[in-house]
Amino acid sequence: MKTAKTIVVLLLLCAGALAQSGAHAQSAAGGSAVADAKMNTFITSLMSKMTLDEKIGQLNLPGAGDITTGQAGNSDIAKKIEEGKVGGLFNIKTVAKIREVQRIAVEKSRLKIPLIFGMDVIHGYETVFPIPLGLSCSWDMSEIERSARIAATEASADGICWTFSPMVDIARDPRWGRIAEGNGEDPYLGSQIARAMVKGYQRDLSGNTDIMACVKHYALYGAAEAGRDYNTTDMSPVRMFNEYLPPYKAAVDAGVGSVMASFNDVNGIPATANKWLMTDILRHRWGFNGFVVTDYTGIMELTPHGLGDFQTVSALALKAGIDMDMVSEGFLTTIKKSLQEGKVTQQEIDRACRRVLEAKYKLGLFADPYKYCNEQRAATEIFTAANRQEARKIAGDCFVLLKNQGNVLPLKKGGTIALVGPLADNKENMPGTWSVAANFAQSISVLDGLKEAVGNGGKILYSLGANLDADSLFEERAGMFGKDLHRDHRPAAEILQEALNTASQADVIVAALGESAEMSGESSSRSNIELPQTQQDLLKALLKTGKPVVLVLFSGRPLAIKWENDEVPAILDVWFGGTEAGNSIADVLFGDVNPSGKLTTTWPQNVGQVPLYYNHKNTGRPLEGPWFQKFRSNYLDVSNDPVYPFGYGLSYSHFTYSDLKLSSASPKGAQTLKATVTVTNDGARAGKEVVQLYIRDLVGSITRPVKELKGFQKIALGAGESKQVSFDITPEDLKFYNNELKYDWEPGDFVIMVGGNSRDVVSQKITWNK
Ligand code: BGC
Repeated sequence: MKTAKTIVVLLLLCAGALAQSGAHAQSAAGGSAVADAKMNTFITSLMSKMTLDEKIGQLNLPGAGDITTGQAGNSDIAKKIEEGKVGGLFNIKTVAKIREVQRIAVEKSRLKIPLIFGMDVIHGYETVFPIPLGLSCSWDMSEIERSARIAATEASADGICWTFSPMVDIARDPRWGRIAEGNGEDPYLGSQIARAMVKGYQRDLSGNTDIMACVKHYALYGAAEAGRDYNTTDMSPVRMFNEYLPPYKAAVDAGVGSVMASFNDVNGIPATANKWLMTDILRHRWGFNGFVVTDYTGIMELTPHGLGDFQTVSALALKAGIDMDMVSEGFLTTIKKSLQEGKVTQQEIDRACRRVLEAKYKLGLFADPYKYCNEQRAATEIFTAANRQEARKIAGDCFVLLKNQGNVLPLKKGGTIALVGPLADNKENMPGTWSVAANFAQSISVLDGLKEAVGNGGKILYSLGANLDADSLFEERAGMFGKDLHRDHRPAAEILQEALNTASQADVIVAALGESAEMSGESSSRSNIELPQTQQDLLKALLKTGKPVVLVLFSGRPLAIKWENDEVPAILDVWFGGTEAGNSIADVLFGDVNPSGKLTTTWPQNVGQVPLYYNHKNTGRPLEGPWFQKFRSNYLDVSNDPVYPFGYGLSYSHFTYSDLKLSSASPKGAQTLKATVTVTNDGARAGKEVVQLYIRDLVGSITRPVKELKGFQKIALGAGESKQVSFDITPEDLKFYNNELKYDWEPGDFVIMVGGNSRDVVSQKITWNK
């Protein structure tokens, strides 16, 4: 099922007749009262002509299925489109293909209602940016917005008008493979990123370079128990509102056009059937006025969840507030019967139909159903040199320098480098998970990137060193998009020896190790988050040579690399850097770019510490020393510390924090408190630093985290330069949801902290009264 869904090889080049919708011409709603009134009048008039079946048809979102492989006009889906049984299609691309399918809708269906075309444009389109978890490590909202803007430009040039992004699920469990698709563990940062992504995709839908965003997976999908994908979630409302819901809300506040329901249950009711979530919170509390789509087969899955037969669960979903049914066809095949039996109402069907039509109207598809079908744009705006350049720059800002003992990095371009490892000479894995439209063949491998960077001035010797894992388990199981690691079938010892021979000729060893792209992402949870054994063995052998070793670490999740951190002198975390990964990695390794990424997740020592996150509660028995204290909250066998804390990341420069000054030690009421700190670059190079503000609320009506991120600024500092960095703090920053889910602040004592990561901060205590 999944495989069929992801087949996006689209070669149909049928007649792209310049047909006009003819039936409905009007401009897209601009959001003003007048525009909304115009839209309402248009939709009311259209709906008055629709039969019940046609209304239900608008709620149906099949995958492109046989259209992607056969002749569009002869496919089963084409017949359904003609009969008005399809509201949109997803996982279909290219202008020729989309134009042909749209033509069927607007020429052959009775009411000529255009289709909406969706796709997983997650971190870029053909030009791929780092995986979202990597992108978040840039802490650079303008770069993140730009990545979404470029993705929207390319996708819209290829016929697509709707993306299933941003994914904003807070995740604190690195076992969960989809941690790769989100922005890490922090609700504040996650909310900023949600906003930036929505802004990047859909600034203004009246043009044809913006696409509608879909925030997902609402809600709490990242809290799957034991990090196992699709597993149950269960949490207190207080945690939900303070820690997990803010990024979805931020996307709604930023005007996101659609929301995707998550697979998991929330308070015992799967999101797809959860009226409290979909209507009470989303609509009534947050004022969302777009449409809600299920996730893939979300309605069908309500039956194994245990909510009843297909007809029952389809009715439950509609009543809960779901508007569009992805793949299940539960609405299409059962809602009419449910209406006749009084199990759903006409108003509920009309409500969902109206919302889907509104989205099409806002996208301008009634005015021009071929708005996104511009061959000229397709030929000139996708995978451009400029977009690739931008991807290269952005990726360089996402990598996180985890360790650099003795300044092994940056490398000199002139020497001999042994490049070793299963991810060194591999293009296909560079874009990372959920890069459906990527141009894999033209992605830049580490080998390509290093060779290009040194030119004739240095030597890059390559050797595999080890397969990804011993028995190809990961390659076989994880392959959602059929990527190939080009396994070497010789004995492991022979492959290793070859690498050691290569290494013996080099001044320095660069080991490109870690996970393959599909070891994270959907349905790719791991119970062991260490490097596979073959790669650990390789690394040990390389270290034994006595040559300096740089670990270039690929992963879609935080890994447990305590041993590597202890032993390897330099570690650069590169996630999956996208199309230009190899070039960006070379930029950073050779110091053309000074690394400035900071982690947005905590990296544990071992999987037993999970979930481990910086904004935890203090407990009644906090550990008060390094380790171990009897009757305190800690382990017998490992300290409570992570290997790397949230917010952590090194640079080739070095930054110090001093002189934290507050404008008042006892602010009152709605006053603004200014916190100013001096940040000094005492290194020898210019660099960028993410200055982070944390606050602790020392006394509350509910227990409060030991610190919470409340602001950050990414600043540039020349060698030896100092800057004063200020944050304005208001009571808004002190607010939280209390036990009655009331959002307010409580007067009392607070600690204001500023630093370059969540652990190493300068701080001052204040008292803030009402
Ligand atoms: C994923 C979604 C994705 C959808 C459509 C689902 O399996 O959970 O994130 O948008 O498929 O491809």
